[in-house]
Amino acid sequence: MMYRVTCIPGDGTGPELMTAAKVAVEATGVAIDWMDVEAGTDVMEKYGTPLPPQVIESIRSTRVAIKGPITTPVGSGFRSVNVALRKELDLYANLRPTVSIPGVRSRYEDVDLVVVRENTEDLYAGVEHMVCRDAAESIKIITRSASERICRFAFNYARDNGRRKVTTVHKANIMKCTDGLFLEVARDVAKDYPDIESEDRIVDNMCMQLVQKPELYDVLVCPNLYGDIISDVCAGLVGGLGVAPGANLGDEIALFEPVHGSAPKYAGQDKVNPTALIMSAVLMLRYLDEKRAAEALLAAVKDVIVAGRHVTYDLGGSAGTQEMGRAVAERTRELLGG
Ligand code: NAD
Repeated sequence: MMYRVTCIPGDGTGPELMTAAKVAVEATGVAIDWMDVEAGTDVMEKYGTPLPPQVIESIRSTRVAIKGPITTPVGSGFRSVNVALRKELDLYANLRPTVSIPGVRSRYEDVDLVVVRENTEDLYAGVEHMVCRDAAESIKIITRSASERICRFAFNYARDNGRRKVTTVHKANIMKCTDGLFLEVARDVAKDYPDIESEDRIVDNMCMQLVQKPELYDVLVCPNLYGDIISDVCAGLVGGLGVAPGANLGDEIALFEPVHGSAPKYAGQDKVNPTALIMSAVLMLRYLDEKRAAEALLAAVKDVIVAGRHVTYDLGGSAGTQEMGRAVAERTRELLGG
């Protein structure tokens, strides 16, 4: 079976990470026909937009995509390509598993959390304007339908993956309408899942609790902005952004990408860690039901990290991106007996 997968290397460190990740994925032997398409700051001049229409067309056709990070200018300039892709393709669930990896230096050894982030609305909708020169407004959009969809996704994920608890993250004490609606919907949805424990936490307290007692939590369901922030907190609990994978899921289309951004200061240096993108590819292989390949690739990443000879700077090593990708590929082949 040959899978067609849209591949968006992205910009900044994205292209070098994607080269390393492809080498590792190809070592699984799963036959993938990569549909390479360009997006991001580097293609602005060529296409007049950071998100050329052929990117969306390709993803709609292959239904599965993997993506490197894409830079979003701060304060002005074009809107986020990442947000546009999620919205345009209705990839409403952003799944970000956070698991401790032996050999990765971090404060905890037994973190096992999953952040489920709503991916289409909230302050991320980008509905904002200047009221006058000295005042600006941003509109926080929360709808019952999108809240229900993401909460059901979180509870179904918990049930299907043997998880015990879903925690809803909110700030409904202050934002009584918007976060109040999200919380009300979460509590209603929870009634349909008596087998899954349900609770809620105010977002600031949630951050503190995660840093102090991550073992108390399991699946976290969050509106878009809190999910963005909380998933970086979670990445910090297991050793940083270099090891944090993610998936953007809709009903028919899935786009896999790491939690981290384009780390532009390291672009072109063959320095950053390909693990987060390779682990995003593990999520992709699971989605494609290529379980043996997925688990071998994940085991290979863990083995390379524990061995410590071919790891990048953030893991205490001096290997480059490509060297680490090749080491993962070699170990994957060994594990699969190839
Ligand atoms: P960033 O995630 O790019 O980098 C922050 C720091 O984390 C880096 O300086 C580096 O120290 C570390 N880091 C990140 N990825 C790493 C890796 N693979 N290996 C080792 N260390 C790694 O965050 P930022 O600097 O805030 O954002 C840079 C750009 O990326 C911005 O334009 C932002 O909008 C964009 N961004 C894109 C995405 C995406 O494509 N989905 C996500 C987040 C940020």
